[in-house]
Amino acid sequence: MSHPLSNRIKSLPTSQTLAMAAKARELKTQGKDIISLSLGEPDFNTPDFIKDAAIEAINQNYNSYTPVDGYVELKEAICTKFKRDNNVVYNPNQIVVSTGAKQSIANVAQVLLNPGDEVILPAPYWVSYSAIATLCEAKFIEIPSSIDTDFKITADQLEAAITPKTKMVFFNSPNNPSGSVYSEEEYRALAKVLEKHPNIFILSDEIYEHINYGVTPFSFAAIESMYDRTITVNGLAKAFAMTGWRIGYIGAPEWIAKACTKMQGQITSGTNCIAQRAAITAVLASPKKIQYMVDEFKSRRDIVLDLLSTIDGFKINIPEGAFYVFPDISAFFGKTIQGVKINNANDFSMFLLEKANVATVTGEAFGAPDCIRMSYAASELQLREAIKRIKEALQ
Ligand code: GLU
Repeated sequence: MSHPLSNRIKSLPTSQTLAMAAKARELKTQGKDIISLSLGEPDFNTPDFIKDAAIEAINQNYNSYTPVDGYVELKEAICTKFKRDNNVVYNPNQIVVSTGAKQSIANVAQVLLNPGDEVILPAPYWVSYSAIATLCEAKFIEIPSSIDTDFKITADQLEAAITPKTKMVFFNSPNNPSGSVYSEEEYRALAKVLEKHPNIFILSDEIYEHINYGVTPFSFAAIESMYDRTITVNGLAKAFAMTGWRIGYIGAPEWIAKACTKMQGQITSGTNCIAQRAAITAVLASPKKIQYMVDEFKSRRDIVLDLLSTIDGFKINIPEGAFYVFPDISAFFGKTIQGVKINNANDFSMFLLEKANVATVTGEAFGAPDCIRMSYAASELQLREAIKRIKEALQ
């Protein structure tokens, strides 16, 4: 019997990042020696100074419901962080704390998008952007890019994608999955186009801002003409190795923040009390305190780039941020390797899982069907072994 599920859930694709991570976990449970490079999750422990703040919060009996939009002390701390790192001034009424940046993005989409609205997604884009737009019955319009343009879009491409129905642009730098980082100049060129279209909102996902290897990250909201229609999304998962703590937040025009609070008040209410108290300590800490993780990611990136460059058929750009490589593997399409026909990136990713015991994510999920994503948020030993296996499987 078919189950009478809603059209909403039926039209929603499964998150491919989470699906691949679940598959890798399941195979490991069955005793298979899988190396998972699928999930974007730092392999570090949460720093002790943050854990201590959480323990203190438990001992101080922080156990009640929290304000829907977050503790005021946390919102103030986030304002301090925005001023310090991004040169953007928000007041606490413009901040909403949520259960992960994913909920922050879903809130914003739910409160701004109507059925039929168009959302521009520069590709490659994080898997859940398109799904969240779909959930709002909006139409997502992809702007393609490729490894030849370092996976960045141009102002002309943005201009060409805009129609009278365009309501939002989802923007993400440093980018998941490509690792590309837009410079201030590139941001300003995109903003010039948007200045001509005052009804378009910008969701600027800056969750990887601290994980960058040289190009100073910039914020859309730091451009004066964009401030009133930009929603800046950030969170603690990536920079502070706090994926499971689930703290994300937005800085936005007050009326959007208010609407997100209303939405959240009917769905999840305020975020976990202990995680919020610990988050105050985390966001107020100097970014220098987490530099050791960034340095380690950079050294792993260099190792991975070096090793992958020895595999014929892998075309790679140099990611300037985040912790992913996004090789173009289209050279393998149409080939048969170890009896397996590779037609596309899905086939290639499954081939690596089955023949090399290495889990990656297909680029199709990110709107880039020539590529696969590999996370290097894994130990150097695992990364070396994974690439050795990939090389052997392909030979
Ligand atoms: N953002 C991470 C990733 O891309 C975590 C998984 C997810 O929520 O998609 O792998």
